Amino acid sequence: MKITVNQVPQEGLYLEEKIKPAELDLETELIKFRSDLLVKTHIYRITNALTVELNIEAIMCANCSRCLDEFEWEFKKDVQLNFPLDISTAFIDLDPDIREEVILDYPIKPLCKIDCKGLCVKCGKNKNEGGCNCGFT
Ligand SMILES: [Zn+2]
Ligand SMILES: [Zn+2]
Repeated sequence: MKITVNQVPQEGLYLEEKIKPAELDLETELIKFRSDLLVKTHIYRITNALTVELNIEAIMCANCSRCLDEFEWEFKKDVQLNFPLDISTAFIDLDPDIREEVILDYPIKPLCKIDCKGLCVKCGKNKNEGGCNCGFT
């Protein structure tokens, strides 16, 4: 997502863009995407700077680090960025900042739910689905 500085009017500018996760190299071993990123942007220009309010949304998925089940969640983030401007600034490319803001919020140990019971260490049954028959508690 690129902003052409001299196209930002006095009253501000609203931009909305869908970005493919692959374009920003967002998927990792752990974190996958079920949707494009939806980025809504309000841009305001003050004398020597641009203020950019970003609203980022996507559906992500991962395997739970305890029970290994795949699950998905809605990622949402609001962030405000400031870009100082000088006479030579014609464009501002938001992509590196968008990428960084998304990756900063990746869970280190994804959990399908906060109290996921995980797998039985003996028989491997998913304990979220009830007790297992192996007798191990
Ligand atoms: Zn789980
Ligand atoms: Zn068991």
